[in-house]
Amino acid sequence: MSIKVKFFQAGYCTHPEAIVIRAGRWKTANFPSIFALISHPKFGAILFDTGYSERFFQETRAFPFSLYALTTPVYLHSEDSAVHQLTKYGVSPETVRYIMISHFHADHIGGLQDFPNAQFICFRSAYEAVKPLRNTAALKAGFLPRLLPPDFEQRVVFVEETKTRLLSSEYRSFNTGFDLFGDNTLTGVELPGHAIGQLGLFFTDADHQDYFLIADACWLSRAYQEFIQPHPIANLIFSNKRQYVDTLQKIHQLHKLNPNLKIIPTHCADTWRLLNFQ
Ligand SMILES: [Zn+2]
Repeated sequence: MSIKVKFFQAGYCTHPEAIVIRAGRWKTANFPSIFALISHPKFGAILFDTGYSERFFQETRAFPFSLYALTTPVYLHSEDSAVHQLTKYGVSPETVRYIMISHFHADHIGGLQDFPNAQFICFRSAYEAVKPLRNTAALKAGFLPRLLPPDFEQRVVFVEETKTRLLSSEYRSFNTGFDLFGDNTLTGVELPGHAIGQLGLFFTDADHQDYFLIADACWLSRAYQEFIQPHPIANLIFSNKRQYVDTLQKIHQLHKLNPNLKIIPTHCADTWRLLNFQ
């Protein structure tokens, strides 16, 4: 099976670095929103997240969601949205068949509505956690309800309904995964802590390179390389601090055992630079 992957960046936000990594600098840093286009020989164009889209700005105009835009300054040119970049790359939005949603924060689901024929893949637990949230409760969870397509529930496939598989011994810090497409090519794992039911993804591309997309299990590559936790203030947005540390430790162990595995945190500027120098 020859899987191909291409990474894009759809917008970025800014934060003091010291929030995302303990003993980091208080200088403001840029945090790209990376998403992936996975070309599958049988299932075609599959996305892992979408990054931001211009809909983020529409949805954060009015209170209370305006507080989101105030506390997290977002930068996105219209040509940077997933739909524009993919079209330019030769992938028309109608042909995207699946979008894997790592979790429901606005910087990951911003572009869902731009792909009318896509089915969505996420953990049921992740969706159930945000589904009832509105107004300030939604804001606290980083969830902008109107970023979801109105027919989301008709188009979603839950990870829990796919077959589990034992991971190979080198990935033993995560015992089991989910065989998302039933062909052993794309394996989902749960990365809880940052958000309930956060989805990570293992796969191997046509060049035999192994990847692990970890979404927001940590923000910077240094965090999993050296096992550095974020500033305690970041706990305010985590669904479960203990699980966050546990997940980070597992990724740290995985990295030590598999130094050639490419681990991709969604918002790491160093990782983005490395991806572009391949
Ligand atoms: Zn994020």
